[in-house]
Amino acid sequence: MRSKPTAGPPARKPRVLPKTIVYITKQVEFSASHRLYNPKFPDAKNWEVFGICNNPNGHGHNYTLDVTLAGVPDPETGMIIDLKRLKEILDDLVIQKLDHKNLNLDVGFLRGLVPTVESLVIKIWERLDGHIPGCKLHELVLYESRTNFARYQGPQKD
Ligand SMILES: [Zn+2]
Repeated sequence: MRSKPTAGPPARKPRVLPKTIVYITKQVEFSASHRLYNPKFPDAKNWEVFGICNNPNGHGHNYTLDVTLAGVPDPETGMIIDLKRLKEILDDLVIQKLDHKNLNLDVGFLRGLVPTVESLVIKIWERLDGHIPGCKLHELVLYESRTNFARYQGPQKD
């Protein structure tokens, strides 16, 4: 007598990614020089305010920029953005404009500003905001050194 065919394993439920926001961070680096001074200040005040960062011939930093995006992962790809595409956008809009540049002289979008890490992070935000498809720019953290960095989440009043 034949036995009944045994049933296969129970059908698995398809795995569905929940529709939820994920924050993803891409880190990029660039090197640049600058001098911190305000041409409206007399020399003595520039030295008082900016100290050795007012060295007339400038000095350099190896900057690190953390770009954090918010988005809902695509259920088909599991990604909120293709990180290779993000790298291309960051290269075009930020790195090529700043890397190996003098921030006082070479960068149009910094002209007329004291190129502190605070000024720089605001101007980088303005360049990136609205230019990353499918994602919201959530936060930038710009490291001027391992211990000095600025964090920015877009325009806020006080
Ligand atoms: Zn500096």
